Amino acid sequence: MARRKTIALVAHDHKKQDLIRWVQQHAETLLQHQLVCTGTTGTLVEQTLVRQEKVSPESIAVQKLKSGPLGGDQQLGALICEGKVDVLFFFWDPMEPHPHDVDVKALLRIAVVYNIPIACNKSSADYLISSPLIQEDYQIQADDYSSYIQRNINDKSQA
Ligand code: PGA
Repeated sequence: MARRKTIALVAHDHKKQDLIRWVQQHAETLLQHQLVCTGTTGTLVEQTLVRQEKVSPESIAVQKLKSGPLGGDQQLGALICEGKVDVLFFFWDPMEPHPHDVDVKALLRIAVVYNIPIACNKSSADYLISSPLIQEDYQIQADDYSSYIQRNINDKSQA
């Protein structure tokens, strides 16, 4: 993992204010990295950073995916599979059902599969963003899934 990381930020609607406050607190650190967000979260994050840091939208690296319920969580999961996300901050709402609950679960699962650091609430996010590893090279060691892949091939050859 490179020193300049790709940091993913996602917040459900009732958690967006929490995330925005958190982004304000950590703007300086976040601006040193590439940011990737689901659609609405990304727009809010960008507006917050532009207002607070008095920088132009062009000078901020915020990649905006589709809105979560429209596939943004799945896009983020695909980026994780491709090794294009280093850290995930996901302020999900434990008090509300969502139309894309299955996508939320899938995103959290795939982040664990690829051993991506995840923070799902503000205190975890504070710990993670304060880690010295955020500014250092860090090699993620994902589990070895080769025996799983091999087992599938063997199963197919016996069919
Ligand atoms: P949003 O999506 O940033 O587009 O609101 C977040 C989500 O609900 O997963």
